[in-house]
Amino acid sequence: MDLLCVECGMEIKDADKIEGYLPGCPSCGTKGVPAALPRISVEITWQELRVLIIWAESHASRANNPATSGIDMLKTVWSIAHRLEAQHRDLPPLTLSGELKELGRVLADDFPGATVETDIPIEPDPPEHRS
Ligand SMILES: [Zn+2]
Repeated sequence: MDLLCVECGMEIKDADKIEGYLPGCPSCGTKGVPAALPRISVEITWQELRVLIIWAESHASRANNPATSGIDMLKTVWSIAHRLEAQHRDLPPLTLSGELKELGRVLADDFPGATVETDIPIEPDPPEHRS
């Protein structure tokens, strides 16, 4: 059985053939439950997906405590969102923090020096993400 680390996106091939218990992701170390591969397809609108991701991001920003749980909920939500966004780079960000980052970029073009201030955590840019 192949597994996917939902936090860092590492695919673990033939995980059932690995001897012993996997104490966490071999790449990022998260203790979160990995997803079983293969991926599935579902029909959903981008806006429905945005609602789910933004609500998950909001909950994760309030409940996140990786020091005690070993799971970084925000990183997991952002990582899943980035993998979904990579499938449709022409559509808007799925997270509120991603949308605020986009707004900051647009404002910076029209109003040099302008910034967007917020009290929500802002996701880091993923590798090979929007530019
Ligand atoms: Zn991982």
